[in-house]
Amino acid sequence: MPFTTPFADRLNNVETSAIRELFKLLGKPGIISFAGGFPDSAMFDVDGIREAVNAALTEEPGAALQYGATEGYQPLREQIASFMKGKGTQALAPEELIVTTGSQQALDLLGKTLISPGDKVIVEGPTFLATIQCFRLYGAELITAPVDGDGVQTDALEKLIEQHKPKFVYLIPTFGNPSGAMLNLERRQRVLEMAVKHNTLIVEDDPYGDLYFGEAPPPSLLALSASVPGSRELLVHCGSLSKVLSPGLRVGWMVGPAELLAKATMCKQFSDAHTSTFAQATAAQYLKAGRMPATLAKVRAVYAERATTMGHALRRELGDAISFVQPQGGLFVWARLTGAGGKVADGGELAKRAIEKGVAFVPGAPFYASQPDRATLRLSFATVGVDKIEEGVGRLRDAI
Ligand code: PMP
Repeated sequence: MPFTTPFADRLNNVETSAIRELFKLLGKPGIISFAGGFPDSAMFDVDGIREAVNAALTEEPGAALQYGATEGYQPLREQIASFMKGKGTQALAPEELIVTTGSQQALDLLGKTLISPGDKVIVEGPTFLATIQCFRLYGAELITAPVDGDGVQTDALEKLIEQHKPKFVYLIPTFGNPSGAMLNLERRQRVLEMAVKHNTLIVEDDPYGDLYFGEAPPPSLLALSASVPGSRELLVHCGSLSKVLSPGLRVGWMVGPAELLAKATMCKQFSDAHTSTFAQATAAQYLKAGRMPATLAKVRAVYAERATTMGHALRRELGDAISFVQPQGGLFVWARLTGAGGKVADGGELAKRAIEKGVAFVPGAPFYASQPDRATLRLSFATVGVDKIEEGVGRLRDAI
């Protein structure tokens, strides 16, 4: 019997992800995949997490296995506040953040609490695909602000804010997914100033800020907001342990104005009651044990080597067939096919040929909410060892 009950109208706003079709092909034996968005599971600090689990079950079994507060497990909120302080954010009271089930849930809660059908939201072009889908599910009309190697172009962003008066602006300022771009300090300042000038809420999604390869990136918008009067009240910051510790833990957080956090907490209560107390107690113990600095140093070094290898290989093997900015952190190289010498200039077309040659990546077009640049591609270096990166780029050259 077919399923005949009509689905909710809001589902008409979203399609299943175009890149999912591509992922089906990744099971082919021998494929070298630059397509994933995952951190490398070989990087997980299994011993550290095992100790944290043991500590949680020994010291606080009642809390770790019981229902908990929707806002989050208090010892974890305290640990996150202190983790953020260690990264240059002004002192945060634990009550100024709520724990979310991954930062993905923070995005969903923002959609639920802020977006009515037809509301305009400005996003970067390109931006995180799941954000596009999530905000559309709530009926948002997405407006695209252009991005270059220094992140979102602030002159263009300000014009769009003036023109569209959006409900909020969603940015991934540090090593964006997929752009890999890092918003420079001057532009960060501008974003905060324009938030105040136009009374516009800014959402800073920051799951990658800790994954820098050389110098630390400029302070987060949240950290900088201390120096721009009035901006803190117009800023939401989403953080996550997914990329640095483990995405399977599903621990993220959201810092924001008290009124917004209260509404988000109410919505979260109806959704999952609270983020797994077991995961939260584990994360709290992990942070308390002081293991994070060593873990970060390790993952930064491994990803830095892979990013450098990929950059060199791309320049050497593909020459003028592509252009890209060497990422200074994160998991991705965002590249553009130039079409030089009559070579392929469409990312989707190349993705198909590349699979035949035994290498996969994600074409860039689906990462645009509007006016896709079809010449773009996202290449992840995160889960591939350096030898395989060289080999994979060689296959990509053959496909081009
Ligand atoms: N935001 C961005 C920009 C991401 O790339 C991701 C993960 N791919 C997320 C949010 C969600 O991460 P998580 O829910 O695991 O914290």
